[in-house]
Amino acid sequence: MSHQPFETWLLEDRRSLSEEEQQNLQQHLERCSDCRRLEAKWQEVRLEMRAAPMVAPRPGFSRRFQAGMAERRVREQRRQAWRVFIAFGSSAAAVFAGFMIYAFFFSTTAEWVQSVVTLLSTTVGAAETTRSLVSTWMQFTPFSLNLTVWITVGVTFCFLVLLWVFAIWRTSLVGVINK
Ligand SMILES: [Zn+2]
Repeated sequence: MSHQPFETWLLEDRRSLSEEEQQNLQQHLERCSDCRRLEAKWQEVRLEMRAAPMVAPRPGFSRRFQAGMAERRVREQRRQAWRVFIAFGSSAAAVFAGFMIYAFFFSTTAEWVQSVVTLLSTTVGAAETTRSLVSTWMQFTPFSLNLTVWITVGVTFCFLVLLWVFAIWRTSLVGVINK
C-alpha cells in the first residue's frame, strides 16, 4: 500500500488541504494502521509542543540557580587560590632545592646540624626566635649565618603563603554564607 501523499498531508496543516484531499486522507486513514499510528504520534508531538512554553519553572528555581552560581564562583576562586598556591609553592620549592644543592656542595655536616638545630629553636616562640637569631648573629661564621637565615626565610615564606591561601578561602566562604 502506498502511503503517499497521505504521509505528507498528515504532517501538514489540515486546513491547507482541499475538501477532496481531506476526504481521501480520511479514507486512507480508515484503511491504513501505519498512517493512523503516524497521525496519533504527530498529534501527541504537537500537543507537547504547544504545552511546552506554558510550563513555568518549578518553585525556588531562581534561588537554586543563584545558589548554583555562587557555588561555581567559590569553586572558581578556590581553583584560583590553588593555582597561586602551586605557583608560589613551586617557586619556594625551587629556591629551597637550589639552596639545598648550594649547601650540599659548599658546607660541612657540622654547619648543617648547627643550622637545623638553630632553626628548630627558632620555632619555639617569637622571643626565642629573636634571641636565637641574635645569638646566631654573634656566634656563627658568616656562611653558617647565611644558611640559617635562608632556611628561616624559606620556611617563613611557605608559612605566609599557606596563611594567605587560607585567608582567601575563608573570605570566599564567608561571602557565600552572607548571601
Ligand atoms: Zn498509509
